[in-house]
Order: sequence, then C-alpha cells, then structure tokens
Amino acid sequence: MKLKHFLWRCLQNGLATSEALYQRVGKGSNLCQCCGEATETIEHVFFFCPTAQVAWRLAPVSWEGIVELQCNMWRWWDAVMDSAKGAQGMDRIKLTVNILWQLWKARNKRVFQLESVDAKVIIDKAQQEWIEFENATGSQPRVLASSEQERLIQHIWEPPQEGVVRINTDAAISAKMVRTGLGIVARNWRGDLVKVRGISRRKRGETATEESLAIRSAPEMAQDAGWTKIEVQSDCRNIVRSINAGNVQDRKLQTILEDIEALKTSFDSCIFSFVPRIANGCSHAMAQFATKVVKTIDWEVSFPTWLTVLARKDMGVVTPFCN
Ligand SMILES: [Zn+2]
Repeated sequence: MKLKHFLWRCLQNGLATSEALYQRVGKGSNLCQCCGEATETIEHVFFFCPTAQVAWRLAPVSWEGIVELQCNMWRWWDAVMDSAKGAQGMDRIKLTVNILWQLWKARNKRVFQLESVDAKVIIDKAQQEWIEFENATGSQPRVLASSEQERLIQHIWEPPQEGVVRINTDAAISAKMVRTGLGIVARNWRGDLVKVRGISRRKRGETATEESLAIRSAPEMAQDAGWTKIEVQSDCRNIVRSINAGNVQDRKLQTILEDIEALKTSFDSCIFSFVPRIANGCSHAMAQFATKVVKTIDWEVSFPTWLTVLARKDMGVVTPFCN
C-alpha cells in the first residue's frame, strides 16, 4: 500500500525533488545533494545519480532494454509495466518498485540526515523488503505443534569440522513462470556463509533432474573456490543414496550423476549426505529466489541480510526479520 502510494507520487511528479521545489517556490538550489553534479529531477535520483547507477548494476533485475527511456519516468514505467505480461513479470516489477523506493529513502537520508547510504545497502534492503512481503502474502509456513518441534529439534544445521566447507543445495521449480532456480550455499566450520550461488534458468524443470543439477553445482563451485575438503548436503534422499551407492537406475539422471562421480575425485575429501528440508532453509530460499530473478547470482564476502538471518535459523537460532 505504502509502495502503491509512493509510485503514484513518482508518476504525478509529486516527489519533492530539489528541481520540483525550485520550480514551485523559485528559491534554493535545484542541484542534486548526493553528487552535486546535476539538476535533481526524479529521473536523476532513480537513474542518473552515481549511487543509482551502481545500485542498478548490483540489482538482480535488469531493465537494460529500456535505458533510452530513463529520461522520462512515465515512459520508462510504461515499458516496465508492459513486461508484466511476460513470465515472472510481476515479480520483477515488485522488486523494481522496492528498488525505486529504497533509492528515494536513501536520497532523503542524504538530504535530511546528511548520511549517505551505500548502493549495496539500497539493493540489499529492497530485496529484503520484497522477500518479506512475498513471505507475508504467499503461503505461510505451517506452525508446528510443540511435540513435533521436539521431534525435529535434532534436525538443525550443524557446522562441519574445521577445515571443511559444507555446501547445501536445493532446487525450485516455478511451473507458472517456466523457470527453475538452483540454490547453492557454502558455509565454513563456524557456520559463516562463505559463498552463495543462485542459478536461474528459463526452462521447464523436473524435480529429480534439477535436484541433481543443484548437487552437481556444489563441487563445481568448490573447484572454482579452490576448496579441497567439502561436504555436500541435499534434502533429496533418493539422489544422495544413488550417488553414495554409485548406481543409477534413472537414465535421465545418469549423465549428471556420472559428472558428480568424476568431480568427486578432484577433492581430498568429498562427502554427500542427506539433510532434512527443515535444516536446508538457506539453499531452499536461495533456489526460490533464483526462480524470481533473471541473472545468475554469485555472492561472496558479503551477503544479503535475509540470507544471514536464514543461516542462523538453520542452526536453530531464531531471529525475526528486523530493519
Ligand atoms: Zn546526483
């Protein structure tokens, strides 16, 4: 609701940019107070200010096809809305509105509190708010009865031994959007996230295949990172069993499982194990996230807040989302 109103004001030229104020009252400066380099129009705040430019480069959504419309918010927004008909259109649009909103909030912080907000923080917050909104309106996770909770209490994610990197994997399929997402989340013996990948593909997926592909992506990512001791976890019991038994009944999976077998030999140690879904929350969320974005995501060194919160949750530390 808040965002709807904000969007309406953007398009009505109702946001109090320096240029709008200057036009209205005829005094003050119409320059952007972030960069000081140009007239602060709404288009400048959203697209042309250096902070905005960096933010859009970091964003998991891209509107490169319509950059030439950026000099006119109305026309740009029209083109964005046109994409709503396409697969996952609404998701891209909602995320986009969140990005615009955070750009505007960052601008206000600069102007009124003289604090600058990093482009990465802007995108991070936009993603977090979008996910919280999706979680609030989408299917609610079932609340477990206390006896059930007790039974599941052993099913928490536990860090591996020192020197070993544990990589959790999961796949998500969106039939509606004709899209698949693979989530690969690596953590060290302290439980800290070390590298996260989200692979997004436009295709009709099949569960066992996608789960196997997610598992295969783990040793691939580990090779890139140069790790020598890894443990790969998946919540797909059958596939883990097939990998460990070295026999595959399913023809379709054969090639993928052979790849995994071959990849395995390049590590000092490489173990595959089953993890219940409840303790596989990070990679599950990452896979879901990947179905909603258009680019493959690679995060290391720093990670979005929603993911670090989930990582703690996997370990049984419950922290509510907070700003
Ligand atoms: Zn500027």
